[in-house]
Amino acid sequence: MDQKIREEVFQACAEDLCRGRHLSRDQWRILLEGRTRERAEQMAKKASALRDRIYGKRIFIRGLIEFTNYCRNDCYYCGIRKSNKKASRYRLSKDEILECCRAGYRLGFRTFVLQGGEDPYYNDQRITELVKEIRKEFPHCAITLSIGEKERESYEAFKKAGADRYLLRHETANEEHYRKLHPKELSLSHRIRCLETLKSLEYQTGAGFMTGSPGQTVETLIDDLEFLERLQPEMAGIGPFIPHHDTPFKEEPQGDLELTLYLLSLIRLLLPRVLLPATTALGTIDPRGREKGILAGANVVMPNLSPENVREKYLLYDNKIHTGKEAAECLDLLKKSMKEIGYEIVTDRGDFLRK
Ligand code: SAH
Repeated sequence: MDQKIREEVFQACAEDLCRGRHLSRDQWRILLEGRTRERAEQMAKKASALRDRIYGKRIFIRGLIEFTNYCRNDCYYCGIRKSNKKASRYRLSKDEILECCRAGYRLGFRTFVLQGGEDPYYNDQRITELVKEIRKEFPHCAITLSIGEKERESYEAFKKAGADRYLLRHETANEEHYRKLHPKELSLSHRIRCLETLKSLEYQTGAGFMTGSPGQTVETLIDDLEFLERLQPEMAGIGPFIPHHDTPFKEEPQGDLELTLYLLSLIRLLLPRVLLPATTALGTIDPRGREKGILAGANVVMPNLSPENVREKYLLYDNKIHTGKEAAECLDLLKKSMKEIGYEIVTDRGDFLRK
């Protein structure tokens, strides 16, 4: 990157970030444009040390249940967008989902993440029913939903039924960039309103974005970082964009590994207590992506608990990994690889630690 950013200028910005001071746009630009291998390594060490001070060497796991790939939306980057007529659609029944939770519980999962497209079949009533049943059978587990944009009443009903957390990546905090990634029916203002509603309902709330999505620039990334600082989410999902062959973005380049790792470090330093996954997408672009993510400051991994026969159908992007360390039933492999880098997978809800 830019060698012209002088060492003392870069270090002054890094120090402000590490001390928890608010950074100006110019300072963020210096951190983003001044990235070199050495500087990224330095930020990763600082981020890791900060995470260790707060959460120790403990890595939290979440059992990811991809329960439907039907979607009414048409996001240009996503493989399960409604216009992708080639996607082979499926949805799990309530009983199948409960079976996934049971299998997950036996393996040591204490958080279940229900993720899916915005599937009209899974209306508020069905989601509420589902959450209630999981809550009843697993009173001590955390239930996370990741099912897109809803109205306040719906979020409220899910919360009342027993949901604890909600993942809704903002995707980009830049209006113009948002337009490039989404059809006109979707708006950044509504997405942000949803996130604010979730926060106000006291969900542990997750925002986030893809790195290297088409049209992303240093300026849009600064918007993202400033947005995260304003929202103060309890969780942040950051992973590389990976093209899917049946989407309008099929020819676009995938996001960069090093930039993703660097952003994980910056976000750890910006939001010290944030629950930060080393995502599946990161594991997909590099066989050691998850481990590298942890060493950059992440502290969560989300193995796949979906039934094996549907895993390859929840294809948001090409080559998505779903076996080996990625699969919940191979948790031992993941435990081993985390141990090798000095970390320990724990059986714990892994809640956000408030001060
Ligand atoms: N329907 C839910 C869940 C979306 S899938 C919602 O709207 O929140 C979860 C995340 O996968 C998305 O938020 C997006 O950031 C990511 N994703 C989608 N397509 C992707 C791609 N091609 N490459 C990498 N990540 C992708």
